[in-house]
Order: sequence, then structure tokens, then C-alpha cells
Amino acid sequence: MCKIVIFTGAGISEESGIRTFRGNNGLWEEYNIEEVATPQAWAENSKLVLEFYNKRRKQVIESEPNPAHKYIAELEKFYEVEIITQNIDDLHERAGSSKVLHLHGEIMKSKSEFDEEPNPKLYDVKNGVIQWGERAEDGGQLRPHVVWFGEPVPLMMEAEKKVREADIFVVVGTSLNVYPAAGLVYYVQSKDNYLIDPNVVKVPEEIPFKVFSEKASLGMKRLYEELTRTSK
Ligand code: NAD
Repeated sequence: MCKIVIFTGAGISEESGIRTFRGNNGLWEEYNIEEVATPQAWAENSKLVLEFYNKRRKQVIESEPNPAHKYIAELEKFYEVEIITQNIDDLHERAGSSKVLHLHGEIMKSKSEFDEEPNPKLYDVKNGVIQWGERAEDGGQLRPHVVWFGEPVPLMMEAEKKVREADIFVVVGTSLNVYPAAGLVYYVQSKDNYLIDPNVVKVPEEIPFKVFSEKASLGMKRLYEELTRTSK
């Protein structure tokens, strides 16, 4: 079966009401990224970090998958579909997608502040909130299971392999500014590639991309129609 690999970023969840990152002058929902999404931030003010992610989690819980997430899930009826997402929300899963690799972790899960990647013990976040003083089995404070700026991305090699094996490769809603994730496009070997983003995104010149300069829901509708008209 023909294999589609879809690489998504914050832009695919924008129409679900979750703000992207780059559009806000380095501010993410009025917070300075360095103060809430780095290991230093955790060391200096873990209460603020917990508060930030508790708010983000509440927003995710209140959001719904949009048509872009749903078209991607529908493609599983015609293709083998693998998603690689930089997003920490769970909107792909809630739309019905079955294979989702979260490069930057998952906001609905937590882990001990002491537990190191690559295989930390994960806990579901109860009632959407990680409390200060809530501890893992090893006694460590629970922290969000997300990859902060400056932390390694343990699933990169697995993601690279998936990209190399793609027959069709699709990029949706990522500025390709955050590394190492953005470097995944250099592993593309397929000649059948698509880019969906309302703004200009720089991709390697030697790799052909068909560009749909549209929001994710409209762009994915077009792509879904193109890919299901003549199942490849
Ligand atoms: P980014 O904010 O750097 O780039 C967003 C991209 O989405 C831009 O290219 C923008 O033009 C495009 N975009 C905006 N609205 C769109 C729409 N409606 N449809 C399609 N595209 C749209 O995001 P990034 O490249 O994913 O990198 C930001 C980092 O921040 C990532 O590591 C990600 O994990 C994190 N983040 C995640 C979420 C989430 O989980 N939903 C939200 C914000 C940031």
C-alpha cells in the first residue's frame, strides 16, 4: 500500500483555536518562551511552567479537531498514513488518526522531573492539571511530557526513517524554523511532495514540492480530493 507521511506543525491546529508560535513575536499566549519552555525555566520557576502548561492543556481540552485533522484521518481508508507532528496537542488522535509520532511530546501526559529520555515512565494528567507537589513513583515532581527548547528530541531517528520511506510526503502548517525537527525535510526521497501553508515556507530547492498557499482545512480538502480521485 502506498505510504503517505504527513509532517504537521502548529499551523494545522490554528483553525481549532490553538495559537501558533511564530505569529506572536516570540510570545506564546503572552508568555516569554524562555520563561516557560526551557530546562532553565523549570529549574528557576517550575510553578510558572506548570501554570503555563495547565492553561495550554485546558485550551487543548476545550478545542476540537478541525477539517484538516479529519481529512488526514480519512486518508487512512485509501493509504497507509503516518503522521509526524511537532504539536503537543492530541487533535490528530481525536480526529481518528491511528499512527501519530509526537516529536515534541504530548501535553496530556506527564513524567517525573528526574526521569530521563528516551523511555521515561509516563502518566496521564488527571483532570487536565499537574499540581505543584504531585509526585511520580521515584519522588520527582511531575512535569509535562514535552520537549523543551534545549532538550534532545529522542524520536528524531525514528522520524527520519519514516520520512525516507514515504511514497508521498506532505508538510502542513510549520514554519520549519524549529530544529532539529525542521531538518526532516532533508530526508525526503519521494518525488511526490506537497506543502500546505498560507505563508511562504522555505524548503530545500532540490526537493520538488507542490505548494498549496492556503489554510490547512482548505489545503487538506484539495489534497484529499486529489489523492482519492486517483488512489496512487
Ligand atoms: P510555527 O508557529 O513556527 O509556524 C506555524 C506555521 O503555520 C507558519 O508557517 C504559519 O504560516 C502556518 N499557519 C498559520 N495558520 C495556519 C493555518 N490556519 N493553516 C495552515 N498553516 C498555518 O510552528 P511550528 O513550525 O510547528 O514550530 C513551533 C513550535 O511550537 C513547535 O515545536 C510546536 O511543538 C510548538 N507549538 C505547538 C502547538 C500545538 O501543539 N498546537 C502550538 C504552538 C506551538
